[in-house]
Amino acid sequence: LVILFSQEKSVDNKPWYRDAWDDLLDQFEEKSYLNARRWKPGLDPYKLHAFNQRECERTPSNRALRDTRHYRCTTLHYGPDLPPTSIVITFHNEARATLLRTIRSILNRTPVHLIHEIILVDDFSDDPNDCLLLTKLPKVKCLRNDRREGLIRSRVRGADMARGEVLTFLDSHCEVNKDWLLPLLQRVKEDRTRVVSPVIDIINMDTFAYVAASADLRGGFDWSLHFKWEQLSAEQRARRADPTEPIKTPIIAGGLFVIDRSWFNHLGKYDTAMDIWGGENFEISFRVWMCGGSLEIVPCSRVGHVFRKKHPYVFPDGNANTYIKNTRRTAEVWMDEFKLFYYWARPAARGNVRGREELRRRLKCKSFKWYLDHVYPELKIPDDSDSKSGVIRQRQNCLEYQTLEGQEMPVLGLGPCMGTKEVPALYQEWIYTHGQQIRQKQHCLSLSTMFPASQVLLLPCNASDGKQRWQKSGSHLEHLASHFCLDSEMALDGLESSRMLVISPCEPSAYTQRWEVPFS
Ligand code: UDP
Ligand code: MN
Repeated sequence: LVILFSQEKSVDNKPWYRDAWDDLLDQFEEKSYLNARRWKPGLDPYKLHAFNQRECERTPSNRALRDTRHYRCTTLHYGPDLPPTSIVITFHNEARATLLRTIRSILNRTPVHLIHEIILVDDFSDDPNDCLLLTKLPKVKCLRNDRREGLIRSRVRGADMARGEVLTFLDSHCEVNKDWLLPLLQRVKEDRTRVVSPVIDIINMDTFAYVAASADLRGGFDWSLHFKWEQLSAEQRARRADPTEPIKTPIIAGGLFVIDRSWFNHLGKYDTAMDIWGGENFEISFRVWMCGGSLEIVPCSRVGHVFRKKHPYVFPDGNANTYIKNTRRTAEVWMDEFKLFYYWARPAARGNVRGREELRRRLKCKSFKWYLDHVYPELKIPDDSDSKSGVIRQRQNCLEYQTLEGQEMPVLGLGPCMGTKEVPALYQEWIYTHGQQIRQKQHCLSLSTMFPASQVLLLPCNASDGKQRWQKSGSHLEHLASHFCLDSEMALDGLESSRMLVISPCEPSAYTQRWEVPFS
């Protein structure tokens, strides 16, 4: 009976705070706001927004939602003096119906005194009225960018204007559920270094049905800095006696979270050199953990979000380029020696990150090793055990690693192959890494930075150095940056036994460019 009763109560078709807003919401001319940009029969309903616009518009902006929290959440009480928040929502060409529903659900399901303001940042959408007309709603303000900035700079702009003690970031196609804000503010009030996210429920992009997400998930990633939801391990689940307890997470999904405003500013906001979308959640997550804070998902807070399969908007520099640019900045500033694994997974060029590196020094943040050990020990660190190794052979000779007495740097040479095919001499055995380097000990085949620039040398391995990448191409070894081929050139003394290693234009018939290698 008790359960039946609480389920009954949980359907909030008459929201409890509604009265405070009733008049004001009703004065808003919702019909004309929506009608001006409504989906028209005959048009592909997915065309503009990559979700079903027709269903979206048929879904009332103030529909009742099932309370998706664990029933025990309903018995919790929150302090009377929670800090009010500025809610920052950035958008670029959002559907009016989803944008309005985001705001209406907030107004309907949040105690009035806890909303300092709702700041919409219109990231140069085609129609300025998408945003402007909404300022007729209580607490809603509108900032409009005069060029496309992307969500990162737009959020910073919103945050700079915010005056609430706490910042709440939301996507523009959310729908908040009952009591969503209270547990989030409570966690931040208790400890302002906590950065907290709700459980993100799923608004089905085809039907707009509101579906409960699992509360046993946390954020994770792989070395290419690709975000994924991760099931808590059996052990982690066993340690959680109380299902209302927050879940520590290595990374947040990034769209929806609450952070103390002065802590956000102290920590360096966001990296505003990042464009459009993507990667900023890694940067802020590493920064929060490594610089003295923590990240958690609060299961008693539920917010729905329309998950899509693709972005409906244009990336001026291309989707992949933007993601690489943003994640590379994260890897360079925060991942220390582990950025190597990132470059293995995503070989790419560099950007200027000096300002953010200074920030990291100034905040005296911990190392990425600390982060991996303490926050994300589950992330598997790649090793060389699954890379290819063996000799690199030309006729009877093999590439070798020579150390000369009194010299610190080893020398790359070519000498008679020693040992057997199965067990070659150690100094003639090379590892071909995931990052396409040819390596022995800490040294990799690289190019001289001085004259003669075509000489191939052994230099300390640096995965972000494009000059160290090689690839087998037929029977040749191609140097990827130059598209030249590894070549053995007669040394000045003219002796067959002392050949120099260089790169030269690939020449299919040249035997000096032909190599047998242990990899393909
Ligand atoms: N957004 C923005 N400017 C952009 C790209 C995105 O303001 O250039 C907004 C977008 O409207 C949304 C939020 O940023 O409110 C997150 O984008 P999206 O929902 O596409 O990301 P996803 O949820 O798919 O990760
Ligand atoms: Mn989104």
